Formats: sequence, structure tokens, C-alpha cells
Amino acid sequence: MAVPKKERYEGSELYRIRHSTAHVMAQAVMEMFPVEAKIAIGPPIENGFYYDFDLPRPLTPEDLEAIERRMREIIAGNHHFERRDLSANEALKIFTDQPYKIELIEGLEQGGMDEYGEPIEGLPEISIYTHDDFSDLCRGPHVERTSQINPDAMKLLNVAGAYWRGDERRPMLQRIYGTAWKTVDELEQHLWRLEEARKRDHRRLGKELDLFSVSEAVGPGLIHWHPKGGMVRKIVEDYCREQHLKGGYEFVYSPHIGKAQLWETSGHLDWYQEGMFAPLDIEGQQYYLKPMNCPFHMEIFKSRTRSYRDLPLRFAEWGTVYRYERSGVLHGLLRVRGFTQDDAHLFCRPDQMPEEIDRVLEFSLHILRAFGFEDFQAYLSTRNPDKAIGTAEEWEAPTEALRMALDRVKIPYQVDEGEATFYGPKIDLKLRDALSREWQLTTIQFDFTLPERFDLSYVGKDGQEHRPYVIHRALVGSMERFMGVLIEHYAGAFPVWLSPVQVVLIPIADRHIEYANSVAERLKEADLRVEIDTRSERMNAKIRDAQLQKIPYMLVVGDREVEANAVAVRLRSEENLGAMPVEKFLERTRVDIEARR
Ligand SMILES: [Zn+2]
Ligand SMILES: [Zn+2]
Repeated sequence: MAVPKKERYEGSELYRIRHSTAHVMAQAVMEMFPVEAKIAIGPPIENGFYYDFDLPRPLTPEDLEAIERRMREIIAGNHHFERRDLSANEALKIFTDQPYKIELIEGLEQGGMDEYGEPIEGLPEISIYTHDDFSDLCRGPHVERTSQINPDAMKLLNVAGAYWRGDERRPMLQRIYGTAWKTVDELEQHLWRLEEARKRDHRRLGKELDLFSVSEAVGPGLIHWHPKGGMVRKIVEDYCREQHLKGGYEFVYSPHIGKAQLWETSGHLDWYQEGMFAPLDIEGQQYYLKPMNCPFHMEIFKSRTRSYRDLPLRFAEWGTVYRYERSGVLHGLLRVRGFTQDDAHLFCRPDQMPEEIDRVLEFSLHILRAFGFEDFQAYLSTRNPDKAIGTAEEWEAPTEALRMALDRVKIPYQVDEGEATFYGPKIDLKLRDALSREWQLTTIQFDFTLPERFDLSYVGKDGQEHRPYVIHRALVGSMERFMGVLIEHYAGAFPVWLSPVQVVLIPIADRHIEYANSVAERLKEADLRVEIDTRSERMNAKIRDAQLQKIPYMLVVGDREVEANAVAVRLRSEENLGAMPVEKFLERTRVDIEARR
């Protein structure tokens, strides 16, 4: 069921409200530091806006309150937002003492970027928007008057450091984040989600639950999995590997580096070099760390003659790739410099292609559902005639197959006309987590270039050579990012089957340790992951710690339990199930694990 393309955020009223609120905030900050404040950029973002300032001192929470108060006064002034188009020279005169604006105007003049310094095509118009006595370099759009901003539905949230133009060699600015909504109710809901997201932040939980870390000694954006996080990741990978085998995939392994020539053949050095680390010199040859696994899988395909009977071939690899990201944009597990893709490349004949697409889409949904996700939204990107390789006719069958597969799996999707990359149409699959945040995970991407570039072929029924279709598929995408999504989705309280420690035994006194050990042995025989808390803490302290560690089951054992050969079961939700025989407890865990609860 195709749903019409959502009204683009840029065209929405909320966008105009937030953009206008950002201008009002900038005015209030300028008034606070009339001489010293230098303003940078202030765009609307998802759920809010920000503005970057160069200020003589760090802002305090009291400052934010004062700025917010002044914003309410400005809003009450019911000022008109007025647009004026002007030449670069005129604009430079207006912003004479604003070095960041001057840099942006000069950039606008040369073309290729917008007023936020973001790349765009062609030469932009230069315009300013003025309300009250504040003017900003801006192409809009805005609300007509400040009174269209609801003063009780906006709030300044926090201040963070941000490098000018995201470049760590440029000055560090102060970024004020704010949010604005149409109603107080919407604002309150948003603030609740933010608070909940803060509690669930995977970086914080990663530390508290001892799942992973990043070490300065190793380098930013490079993740270490600790035993507990490593256990969760192993379970995720084991489950996925098993499903891949059932799904007709074969596993391959490929090296982490490859010769420059390989990346020339694949085209990565033409269009992806910015994302690649500098080459290594090995005996006078240049080698690159792999940013993608594709060229290796193409080489494996090419390593022998393939017959039409061999197809489809589905090569899967948990391949660790390295991509250059500026240190300023790195973020926990979500944006890193080294990550493992659950990558696959599908090679098929044209007549197999529609079924192959159906399969891979259903397979992807099946796996994501197993991890507890239910709410999906797909995006189909189609050919952009201006930059696509291949003819419209060549694109038609694959695009149609993607569309029909989406219709069959009955998830909502949106067609992004002309949004495909130059080398083929694709489906992006996003899911919503427990806080209804959207995460892009799966990509199913046709590629018309690689079969040509690597001169792939199979021998058809007719004895002639034919080109196979190649489809890239990353399912959860990056293992690191997916783990981050899982941690936040479950707030660290993983379902029993994913929990690194499933059961903790809590002996009440030292004399119960021996019994606790014997119970632990029985549980381990049943493949449960068990710990015993033998510290000489009080029972309640041990229970509280286990709850903080989000361990699903706490089994308290004291004199009565030893006597009755039982365990007193408590859940991390604080529910107390009371005493039960060990066998009965085992039965319960079996049910929970099978249901992936
Ligand atoms: Zn603006
Ligand atoms: Zn690929």
C-alpha cells in the first residue's frame, strides 16, 4: 500500500515556526551580548531548531532562562518577518562585523552551497529575513508574524559545543538547542520523549551495563565490546547466521584491505574516496582499508565460471569496514569509524530477480521482527534521469520488482521519485522504536555498475555469456549501530533470549552459597547464563543491583528454599513471583526464551 509522499518537512508549518523561533532566539542572544556576539547558523532540525553563537563566555542555565523570557517578549511584539533579496555586496554591508556570515555570503556568491554551508546545486539567491530589529542571512521560509509562534509551546533545551562548519580545526561555538510546537500538549509530549531518550541513551547504558567502550588510546569512533556487550552481539549474530543458512545464503570472508587497483575497478576511488582512509604503502603498492565489502564478493563470484544453474548466489559476510568520519560527528555506536556490516550480495538471472526481491524483503522483515520491531516504513527510490547510469528501460523491471515486493509484504511505503543513487533503484527500510523514533536499517540496492565494472557473467542455457543482476543488501546495516538501537529500544532491559546474564542467584547468607552453586549448575546445564552474587551485601542491596543491571530473573535462596529445593523468583520489573521448584522456574524461562520475550 503506497502512501502519498509525506509533505516535506521544509514545506510544513512546524518548520516555519521553528525556523522563526530560531531567529527570535538569535535576536535575544544578540541583545544579551550586543558587541561581542557573533552569529553563525540556525536551522530548524527534526523536532526543533538550534543556533550557533560565538560568545565571550559560556552560557549558563540562568542565561537560557533569561533568553527564553526575552523571546516571549519579542514574540508578543507581533513583529512581521520580511524578506529582502539582495546582492552579495549589499549583504556584506549588513553583516560587516559578523565574520561567520561574511564567510557564508562569500560561499553563496561562489555557488554550490546554501546559507547553512550545505552543498546545493547551482547558484543560490541571496536574501535576508528581518523581524523587529534583527536580520539574518536566510532564504526562509518563515511565519508571517512572531505571534504565530506559541510562546508556551517553545523551550530552550541545552547548550552544546559545535565546531564551525563541523570542522575541528575551526572555532568551537556554543550551540543552543530549542524546540517549538503548535500546542503546549505537543511540547510536553516531546519533553517526555526527550527525558525517556536520555535515560535510554546507549552511551550511558553501555557504561552502566558494562557493554562497550571507546578508548582514547585506540582512537575515537572505534568500539570495544566488553564481555556482556559481546555476549549480546554474539547472540544477535548467531541467530542471524542461523537464519541466513535457512534462507539460502552462503558465508564468505574477505580481507580488510585491497589494492588501489581494486577500488579503481569498483569505482570507489572515484566517488567514495572522501569516506576512505589514506592508503597504506606495501612494497611500493598502495592498499586501502575497505569501506565496503562489495569488490571482494565480486571477485569471489568471478573466481570461477558460473552457469545459469548456479544462480541465484547469495554471499553473506559480517564484514568489518572502515570509513572516515570527522571526529566532530562521531556519536557512540551510531556514528563510528569502524563497524561490521551484515552484508550480502545477491547474484541472479533476470528471470529470478522478482522472486529474489520478494525473498530478501520478507527475510529482512522476518529478522527485524524477531528482535521485537513491528512498526516499519519503507522508501522506494527511483531513477533520476539526470544522473542515472543505464537506460530508463533497464531500470524499469528492477524498480517494478521492488514496488511489487513492497505491495506484497503490506508495509507502508513512500516512493521517492528520482532519489535513487546513480547506480540503481533501492528500498530503504526504516523502523520505529519504543519511543517512535525512526531508524534506517535495511537497504536493498540494485547495482548496474558493478557487474559491468567487474565484467561479471554467467553462461546461459543458450551457451552464451550473460550479465547477472547484482543486489547489495545490508540487513541490520551496521552491527554497532543496531546494538545501539537495541539498547535504546529496550532501555537496556533486553528480552531474556538476548540478556547477557539471564539469572542471578542471590544467597541470603554464606551458608546458602553451596545450594546456590548447585542450582546454578542445573541452570547452566539448561543453557541459561547465570551469575551468583556472593558478596556479603544485604539481600535488598543485591536485588537492587541486579535490577540496575536489568537482569531478567533474580533467584533468592535462603533456609526455606534450601529446605524445599526451590528458588524465590523476582523479576527486574520488581514483580515477586514467590518460591517455586527449580524445574518449574526452568519451564518458565524456556517459554520466555522461545517467545523471545
Ligand atoms: Zn533563517
Ligand atoms: Zn555491496
